[in-house]
Amino acid sequence: MNNINGSCLCGNVQYSTFAEPLMTAVCHCSDCQKQSGSAFSVNVLVPTEGFEVSGPGLCSYASNGGSGLPVQRFFCSTCGSALYSAVTTLPGLFVLKAGSLSDPSAFKPAVHLWCASAQPWVAIDRSLACYEQAPSE
Ligand SMILES: [Zn+2]
Ligand SMILES: [Zn+2]
Repeated sequence: MNNINGSCLCGNVQYSTFAEPLMTAVCHCSDCQKQSGSAFSVNVLVPTEGFEVSGPGLCSYASNGGSGLPVQRFFCSTCGSALYSAVTTLPGLFVLKAGSLSDPSAFKPAVHLWCASAQPWVAIDRSLACYEQAPSE
């Protein structure tokens, strides 16, 4: 059984889950670029059931995502690290920021989302599933 752990940069907030991750997706949406301070975020989908988070200073910020529905983004108020999100369009799942995992090496992305807003100097692996926005349901 996998045991996934992660934390913020300062270590005040820690999370873990025994649940199996569903998939890893790179998101090039402009909100992920802003929030991560980078060109994209690498998101690991895990079930909310079995997910535990602890530590002082866990904060969240909600805004409407590309779908127009709320995305609640959790982060550490001390060091500012992005940790995970709760996305209205993905009920029952949390979206972990791969860079906050203690070992992200196993979480190779399978899909690229919001390629329409990707930075032109980011090399996207077009052999993977690529969506201009989010996959339609
Ligand atoms: Zn922190
Ligand atoms: Zn995004």
